[in-house]
Amino acid sequence: MPGFELFGDRERAETHDVLESGVLMRYGFDGMRNGHWKAREMEFLLAKRMQVKHAQLLSSGTAALTVAMASSGVGAGDEVILPVFTFVASFEAVIAMGAVPVLVDIDDTLTLDPEAVRNAITDKTRVIMPVHMCGSMADLDTLKFICEEYNLILLEDACQAIGGTYKGQPLGSIGDIGCFSFDYVKTITCGEGGALITDNTEYYHKADHYSDHGHDHAGTDRGAEKHPFLGYNFRISELNAAIGLAQLRRIDEFLKIQEKNYNILKEGLQEIPEIEFRRVPEGGVENYSFLNFFLPDEEKARHAIRKLTEAGIDACFYWYDNNWHYHRKWEHLKQMISLGNLSNEVQQGIGNWNNKSFSASDHWMSRTISCLVKLSWSQEEVLQRRELMISVLKQL
Ligand SMILES: *Cc1c(COP(=O)(O)O)cnc(C)c1O
Repeated sequence: MPGFELFGDRERAETHDVLESGVLMRYGFDGMRNGHWKAREMEFLLAKRMQVKHAQLLSSGTAALTVAMASSGVGAGDEVILPVFTFVASFEAVIAMGAVPVLVDIDDTLTLDPEAVRNAITDKTRVIMPVHMCGSMADLDTLKFICEEYNLILLEDACQAIGGTYKGQPLGSIGDIGCFSFDYVKTITCGEGGALITDNTEYYHKADHYSDHGHDHAGTDRGAEKHPFLGYNFRISELNAAIGLAQLRRIDEFLKIQEKNYNILKEGLQEIPEIEFRRVPEGGVENYSFLNFFLPDEEKARHAIRKLTEAGIDACFYWYDNNWHYHRKWEHLKQMISLGNLSNEVQQGIGNWNNKSFSASDHWMSRTISCLVKLSWSQEEVLQRRELMISVLKQL
C-alpha cells in the first residue's frame, strides 16, 4: 500500500515548482506563484478520476471526515453509526463535531454489518459511516437503501481503499460524501493530507468555506472575504499537495502493482483448504492494499501469526490485538478519557454502548490475519514470500 515506497523524481519535480516560487499556500499570492496551483490541480484530477463533480483537498483524512460531517450539517448530539473495526480517526472526527459515535458490529466483509446498523438506528441518527478497511468495501447497496429509508447521510471512509470499486463506481463516490487519506502510509501520499469527494454542490461549497475559517472565497481580495458561517482551519499546504499531485498521477500504476502482488500471494494461499478469504460484497473490486484471510479459529490464528513473524514475514497483522484499529483496545474511548469535559450528550451516547460485547465482530476478527501488499517488492520477493507463507501455514 504505501505510496512512499515509490517516491521519486516526479514527486521531487512537483515539489521543486513550489520551492522555486516559495508560495507554500494554496490560496492567493497570484502574482508570486508562477502559475502553480498544486492543490487545485490535484482536486481537479481527483474529482475526474473518482467520477464526481467536486473534490476538496484537506490537511488529513481525519480532517476530511470532520469537514464532511460539518458540511452535511452534523452537530451536537447527532449520532453517527460506525464499525468496531476502523482507525481511531473515525470516532475522533465524530467527537470533534460534538456528535456521538455509535459503534456496531462488522461481518465477514470486515466492514459494517447492515443488520447491526439497522438495529442501532434511533431518532438521533444522522450518519452511517462505513469504513472500507484494508482495501475492501461494505455492502453499499444495502446501506444506501437504509439511508434512503431513514433519511440519513451515507459517509464513506475510503481512506484505506482508494481505487477500489463497487458495481463499477469508485469507492468514495457512492455515498453522499466520501473521504480519503493521503497520510504517509496510504496508497497515495501527500506526506500529510486528505480529501473529500461529493456530487453535492452545496456540501462542497460548505466544505471549501468551512475548511478555511468560513471564508466565503468570493472575489480576488482575500482580506475582504466575509464569513457566512463559523469555520476552522483544515487547509493543506501547497507543498504537500505537490507531492500528492505527482502520486495521484501514478495511481493506476500503483493499483496495478498491488493487484499483481496480491494475486500472486492469494493464488498460493488458495492451496491451503483451512484458509478462507474475507468476503467481498457482490459487484465489489478491492484496491488490493491488503490480503485478508480467516483461520479456522482464534488459537490457530494466533499460532499462525506467531509462526509467520518467526519466519521473518513482515507486514502481516493480527488486528484483534491491535491498539489502533479494533475496539478491544479503545479503553480511552469507552472510558471517555478526554483532556477536557465531553458534553453530556456525548457521555450519555457512549455510555449507551460502551459495556456492550461485540461478539459477532470478535468471532471474525479473532480469526483474521491481514497482510499488507507492498509496492516495492520485486517479482522474486513476492514469489519467495508466497512459498514461505505456504510452508509456514501448511504446517499448522
Ligand atoms: C488513515 C485513516 C484515517 C485518517 O487519516 P489521516 O490522514 O491519518 O488523518 C481515517 N480512517 C481510516 C480507516 C484510515 O485508515
